[in-house]
Amino acid sequence: MRIDVLTLFPEMFEGVFSSSILGKACDKGIVALNTVNFRDYSNNKHNTVDDYPYGGGGGMVLKPEPIFAAVESLPLHQEEGQDPVKPRVILMCPQGETFTQKKAEELSNEQHLVFICGHYEGYDERIRQYLVTDELSIGDYVLTGGELPAMVVIDSVVRLLPGVLGNEMSAVTDSFSTGLLEYPHYTRPAKFRDWEVPEMLLSGHHENVKRWRRKESLFRTLERRPDLLEGRELSKEEKAWVVEWKGRKQEE
Ligand code: SAM
Repeated sequence: MRIDVLTLFPEMFEGVFSSSILGKACDKGIVALNTVNFRDYSNNKHNTVDDYPYGGGGGMVLKPEPIFAAVESLPLHQEEGQDPVKPRVILMCPQGETFTQKKAEELSNEQHLVFICGHYEGYDERIRQYLVTDELSIGDYVLTGGELPAMVVIDSVVRLLPGVLGNEMSAVTDSFSTGLLEYPHYTRPAKFRDWEVPEMLLSGHHENVKRWRRKESLFRTLERRPDLLEGRELSKEEKAWVVEWKGRKQEE
């Protein structure tokens, strides 16, 4: 996968792109992460990328020319013997579709992603209308720029690419990937202060441990995010666990 990020602050990405799992994914050649300062594509002598809004009002608006020029200058991804692939062009903005694990999975199947990070009041609307394929928000709050949101999305997409995580299973059982929150984890010591690890996890019985984890995953979801269960087809076993959980709640 190739990822290009259009930003006025490329230095913000240096640590994130070269550290930890993202850094290793680049070193292994699984992903190429590239930043483009769209100020370099400004077509005026003062290198400005923003201007006052038509109609007045506060705040500056990002001009269309540098952003269109920067996107159009990017090399297209092309596999040998195949046609070049048009990238998904993703605008980071609080008005966009809320980013989810499902969206991360969808984007992880692409070969080329382009992120546009805004700043200031907003973007010229023609960028939304004629350049981007997706608009993504990381939540119902407003940040000063699109850099942190783009990092969030890139991190969650790249960790899904084959070969990025050491243990492939760790992405499969993650919260949201299964439609449920993940089960609780424990590690040594088996007893810390007066708190003991659930006996089942020490049993060495793999099938029972798996079942315990599925049940705990369902309980945790019922407790914290019951909305995730809406519309989910429950198995007979899961329905029985829901009854058990409700019984426990009544006793509490
Ligand atoms: N005036 C804009 C509005 O009300 O929608 C907010 C602009 S915000 C100060 C500047 C930039 O930060 C946005 O263009 C976007 O790139 C980024 N940004 C802020 N909050 C975001 C969020 N929740 N998700 C994604 N991007 C966000």
